Amino acid sequence: MSSDCDFLSRRALAVDASGIRKVFDLAAKMVDPINLSIGLPDFDVPDPIKRAAIDAIEAGNNRYTQTQGIAPLRERLRRDLSAEFGRDVGEVLITSGVSGGLLLAILATIDPGDEAIFLDPYFVMYKHLLTLVGGKPVIVDSYPDFRFHAERVEKAITPHTKLLILNSPSNPTGIVLTEAEVKSAVEIARRHDLLLISDEIYEPFLYDMPRGLPSPAKLDARTLVLRGFSKSHAMTGWRVGYAAGPDAIISQMTKLQQYTFVCAPSPLQYAALAALDVPMDAAVDAYRRKRDLVYERLSSKFEIAKPQGAFYIFPKAPAGKKASDFVAQAIERNVLMIPGNVFSERDTHFRISYATTDEKLGRGCEILLSMV
Ligand code: PMP
Repeated sequence: MSSDCDFLSRRALAVDASGIRKVFDLAAKMVDPINLSIGLPDFDVPDPIKRAAIDAIEAGNNRYTQTQGIAPLRERLRRDLSAEFGRDVGEVLITSGVSGGLLLAILATIDPGDEAIFLDPYFVMYKHLLTLVGGKPVIVDSYPDFRFHAERVEKAITPHTKLLILNSPSNPTGIVLTEAEVKSAVEIARRHDLLLISDEIYEPFLYDMPRGLPSPAKLDARTLVLRGFSKSHAMTGWRVGYAAGPDAIISQMTKLQQYTFVCAPSPLQYAALAALDVPMDAAVDAYRRKRDLVYERLSSKFEIAKPQGAFYIFPKAPAGKKASDFVAQAIERNVLMIPGNVFSERDTHFRISYATTDEKLGRGCEILLSMV
């Protein structure tokens, strides 16, 4: 008789999630850890958004919506994005989180053997989703400053390259690409006929950019923008995101959504519409202050590229130490963080999420500084 494992697809087995699992295994043994590992805001969904969700449920908005999402949300996002990007962005697709948008985008564009370029360190899903569909992740090192190095990206382009995936503000580094860097990414994409995918899930969390996020969608309509409500309004469990970009791609993604996610959660799409009118400036101000606090403290002993967005900071482990060993030692001292090799081909840095209380951040920094 065959073993249960014999039923597993090569596709499933090709995805390696061992890095993050090791961290969770270690974390499971911790009692009341100083948890600096969590990739979501430390505030709850604001009350008016909860109210809108409850009202939508009570009003009976509990059935399938149109595959592409409810019209008022799509229309509002189309208006807002068109104003921001300075042109009509066309139909917006409401997705099941940015993760849903990423999966549909990759399914819609990548054939086996096609290549997609993104910077190292990277959001883990890019690599694994590409592997799942038989595509080839082409990972371009951006150490030590985590900036967009045009010449390194150009060198990685082959006749099989189809996508250039950008993530700014970045998870895990918090780096925000400048207008000049975004312009150079757009020029490369044009020159080599690539589709740009811009993962802008951390777009509201900008600390040094009064003019808003430099998005490639402002410069080139051949950009697929992915945004969502998970981080902006702490709605990670509600699974609402959206995609805007070239019509041909959005319409294929919509078709694929019909046979996979069907639609984003109905009442929570109404809640997302309400979320667009809930100002989150106070949260952004609070995180700017936390960014300053953690950067000032840790940069006295750690090498750090100063983050300008999201709520992560990505310091280098002390000289001569593998970051995964350093993280294991921090976990022994009850500080939980994520080793950089979960997001990278290198094992030299670690990710701290500063979306937590000042008290925990302070204690966490204290312990980390004492370990150098
Ligand atoms: N992109 C990035 C860069 C992320 O950090 C995350 C969440 N950690 C996602 C996409 C997916 O977010 P969601 O599916 O919750 O919208």
